[in-house]
Amino acid sequence: MRDYIRTIVDFPHEGILFRDVTTLFADPRGFRMAVDRMLTPYLGGRIDKVAGLEARGFILGGAVAHQLGCGFVPIRKKGKLPAATISESYQLEYGEAVVEVHDDAIEPGETVLIVDDLLATGGTAEAGVRLMQRLGATILGCAFIVELPELGGRVKLETLGIDVRALCA
Ligand code: IMP
Repeated sequence: MRDYIRTIVDFPHEGILFRDVTTLFADPRGFRMAVDRMLTPYLGGRIDKVAGLEARGFILGGAVAHQLGCGFVPIRKKGKLPAATISESYQLEYGEAVVEVHDDAIEPGETVLIVDDLLATGGTAEAGVRLMQRLGATILGCAFIVELPELGGRVKLETLGIDVRALCA
């Protein structure tokens, strides 16, 4: 899996090693392998919705939802969704970010898988978890292609009782 992912030095800031999954998405074998491996643990179980985190979580989450035969829900950055939303804010290194979901995107009791490309500090995924929980979802887990264990995202989510799966570190 790692061979398909490109690392960009000093993006978006000096000192950051950015994991670029567009090279994985562009490769037919790599993309299929990533989607298949992400969804395999959930085959055979009840799953109502995949919730994808903007923006690369839309690409993965859409493909995973299609394969699982369930619905897809976008969790978007503030101000992008057209109907009534609920929102959650979370801390960034400098400042704060806000994510939103339509307030009717999930029926209470629906089972939801949250998907994104990469888990770093876990702030984004945790905000997604909180949104889903506020709508009454049962969260099956959070699935990523890459996790950066040293940034603590897995611990943050697992402390909340969330199952975390990543294809590589
Ligand atoms: P976190 O909230 O600190 O866990 O950061 C994860 C979010 O930032 C995800 O939505 C990722 O898409 C994005 N992100 C952070 N670092 C990278 C990276 O190196 N490559 C791709 N996305 C990243």
